[in-house]
Amino acid sequence: MIRFEQVNKWYGSDHHVLKDINLEIKQGEVVVICGPSGSGKSTLIRCINRLEPIQQGKIIVDDMDLHNPRLDLTTLRAEIGFVFQQFNLYPHMTVLENITLAPTMVRNMPRAEADRLGMELLEKVNIPDKAGAYPTQLSGGQQQRVAIARGLAMKPKIMLFDEPTSALDPEMINEVLDVMKALAREGMTMACVTHEMGFAREVADRVIFMDHGVLVEENTPEEFFNNPQHERSKEFLSKIL
Ligand code: ADP
Ligand code: MG
Repeated sequence: MIRFEQVNKWYGSDHHVLKDINLEIKQGEVVVICGPSGSGKSTLIRCINRLEPIQQGKIIVDDMDLHNPRLDLTTLRAEIGFVFQQFNLYPHMTVLENITLAPTMVRNMPRAEADRLGMELLEKVNIPDKAGAYPTQLSGGQQQRVAIARGLAMKPKIMLFDEPTSALDPEMINEVLDVMKALAREGMTMACVTHEMGFAREVADRVIFMDHGVLVEENTPEEFFNNPQHERSKEFLSKIL
C-alpha cells in the first residue's frame, strides 16, 4: 500500500531530514514509528500524503507515484485520513458538521446520507451524544476522537497518526488508543507516530525506530522491546520505558 524507495529529503539546501529511507507497508498492516524529537518522524508520514515533497527516490501509495507531475492530489488525499497531535477541528462547526464537511464537499454526498455516515462514525468513536456540540465544549480526548471520525469519513484506505495522544491529559489517552486499536483490528492500514509502547505491543505488526533522519531499526514489537538491535534503539527505549 505504501512504498518508499531510497527516499532522501532536505529542508532548504543543507538540512538532510530523510536519509535513504526504504520502507514498505502492506495492506492491513499497522506500523508504529518512534524515535527522538527531530528525528524526522513527522516529515516521513507527511510525505505519504504529499504534504511534503521529496528530492530523491520514490514513494508509491496505492499504486500512485507521488512525484508523477500528473498525480491528482485530491484523489490521493481522499484515500488517506490524517490525525494530528493538535486536533484542528473547525471551531465554528458542530461535531457532525466537522465530520460531514469533506464527504459533502469533495464527494458531493447528499446531506442526509452524510449525516447518517457521520452518526455511524460517532458511534464508532463512542460519542454519538456529541453530534450537535461544538469542539470547545468537548474534552481533548473527545475532540481527538472526532478528528479520527472526520479522518474516516472519506472511507480512507490508509490512516496516518502523528502523535495523536501527545497533547492529551493522561486520563484521556486510553479512550483515543482504544479507538485506534479497534481500527487496527478491523484491518485498517495504519502508520502511527507514537511513543505509546503499550499500543505498539498490542497492535503493531512492526515498529520502526528513526534517529537523525535514518531508519535505524525495523522490527517486530516483541523483538524491538525485548531485544533491540542497535545501541541507539536501546538508549531511546531506556529513556521512554
Ligand atoms: P520529528 O517528528 O521526529 O520530531 P520532524 O520531521 O518534525 O521530526 O523534523 C525533523 C527535522 O526537520 C527537525 O530538525 C526539524 O526542526 C526540521 N523541520 C521540520 N519541519 C521543517 C520545515 N517545514 N522546514 C524546515 N525544517 C523543518
Ligand atoms: Mg513530529
